[in-house]
Amino acid sequence: MSKWQEHKSAINERALTRLTRALPDVFPPAVLSRALGRPFIPPTPRLAIDSYWRAHPLRADRLARALAAQSGQPDGWTWQLGKPRNGLPATFRIPPAPYREKRFARGPGFCCVCGQAVYQFGWHTDLWGKGPNKRAHWHGACVIAWQFWNAPSEQATLLRRLQARRCGQTGGRLWKNAEVDHRVPLYRVWGEYRSTAWPDLLGYWGLPNLQVINRDAHVLKCADEARHRSGRRSQPAVDAAPGTR
Ligand SMILES: [Zn+2]
Repeated sequence: MSKWQEHKSAINERALTRLTRALPDVFPPAVLSRALGRPFIPPTPRLAIDSYWRAHPLRADRLARALAAQSGQPDGWTWQLGKPRNGLPATFRIPPAPYREKRFARGPGFCCVCGQAVYQFGWHTDLWGKGPNKRAHWHGACVIAWQFWNAPSEQATLLRRLQARRCGQTGGRLWKNAEVDHRVPLYRVWGEYRSTAWPDLLGYWGLPNLQVINRDAHVLKCADEARHRSGRRSQPAVDAAPGTR
């Protein structure tokens, strides 16, 4: 065994001891089996859960939207832009999140993205019967979903695979320089679909509205959008909203 391998297996042995010691009797089996299969074993249950969601951003996206659907849109909320210090998004590119706003925040133990209770280790169900974790403000899944919604390009490889490496716009082969695109551009979501109920709005940031397209197709699409923007500003929406997957 090389020195590096010895070093790595010593680290893993220590991590496994720590993880085993901290592991509760009940723990999501899929999370545990992934943790034990990592080149470096996460040394705490919380890190094991974070590592699981990092590996499954699309699952996190779906779950976060499903949890948000359980919370629904708070009474009196509308999608508004404003000062980040009040929890308002500064631009329409940031997904609307009522429970991040001071006025609608549900307080300690509730997730600021989906509005549902956060349990131990940032999990979304109370597997341990201990009730919400009062120090938590995010689900592990919602952290990853939020990152995905705000920077979907980081998951380009995954999205390409999902499209069988075909351009979402032309159906042709995806080239190396292909780009992640919002089918319904976010400026149109803000301009034309602003009154869509939350959390259906989140679908515009999630997988239902994302595609990978070749750069030349993207340039053409952006030019069309620019024309649309300057010519049809005041016309009503005709496109269908994306479905939920
Ligand atoms: Zn959440």
